[in-house]
Amino acid sequence: MWQKNCYRIVVKVGTSTLTHDTGAVNIHSMERLVRVLADLKGYGHEIILVTSGAIAVGAAKLTPGSRPSELRMKQAAASVGQCQLMHMYDKLFGEYNQTVGQILLTDADVADPERSEHLSGTFLALLETGVIPVVNENDSVSSAEIETGAHKVLGDNDTLSAIVAKLCNADLLVLMSDIDGLYDSDPHTNPNAKLINRVEVLSDDITGMAGGVSTNRGTGGMITKISAASIAMDAGCDMVITNGTRADDLYDIVAGKDIGTRFVGKK
Ligand code: GLU
Repeated sequence: MWQKNCYRIVVKVGTSTLTHDTGAVNIHSMERLVRVLADLKGYGHEIILVTSGAIAVGAAKLTPGSRPSELRMKQAAASVGQCQLMHMYDKLFGEYNQTVGQILLTDADVADPERSEHLSGTFLALLETGVIPVVNENDSVSSAEIETGAHKVLGDNDTLSAIVAKLCNADLLVLMSDIDGLYDSDPHTNPNAKLINRVEVLSDDITGMAGGVSTNRGTGGMITKISAASIAMDAGCDMVITNGTRADDLYDIVAGKDIGTRFVGKK
C-alpha cells in the first residue's frame, strides 16, 4: 500500500560488496543488505534490487582460484553464479516473508520500444503485488558488459540500474560500491581526497573528478557511476553513491541525510 513519504527505490549492489576476493558470496554482506531492504519494504517503500556478482560467484565454483578470460567461460560462469545468487536471495528474503522475482535484461530489451514497454509492465505488476524484483544483465546471452563492444547499450550494472530506475519512474537510485562516494581526487592514491556530499549539476569538473577511479572486482568504476547519474538525474530521480559495507546507511539515505554522494534529480 502506497503511503506518504514512501518511495520507489532501486538499489544496485556491486560485485565487490557481494563477494570475497575468492569470488565466493560474502554471506555476511548479503544478509545485512537483505535485512535492511526487507525492513524498508516493510515500512512501505517499493524496492527493486539490481545485483552484480553472477560471473564472480559462478567462476568461484567452475574455476576456483582464477577468473575465466574466455567470453564463453565467463558466460557459463554467469549462468551458474546467477542461479546461486537467486537461490540465496530467495532464501534470505523469504526469511523476512518477502517474495522476489528475477528479471534478466539484455541491451536489446531496453532499446526496443515494444519490449521495453512489456518490461515496464512486468516491473509494475511485480511491484503492485508486493514482489521485490531482482535484476541483472543477462550475461549468458549478452556480451555487452563482459566485452566492451561498440554496440553496447547497458554495458555495466551501474548504467543498467539507472535505466531500470528511469523505466520504473523510481524516486531514488542507490549504488552500493566499495567506495564511500565521489571524491575530488582518487582516494586510493590521495589520502587528502575530499568526499563530495551533493551534486546538483554534472559539470565538466565533476566528470573530471571521476576519471580513473576504479573499484576492485566489478566492471564499473566511477565513470560508469557518473553516466548512471546523468540518466537518473535527467529522469528526475536522485542517485546516491555509498559504501556497500554499511547497509544500515540505507535508512539515513532514504531519509535524505548526507551519506555518500547524492546527485540531485532534475525537478
Ligand atoms: N553483470 C555482471 C555480473 O553479474 C556484473 C556487472 C558489473 O559489475 O557491473 O557478474
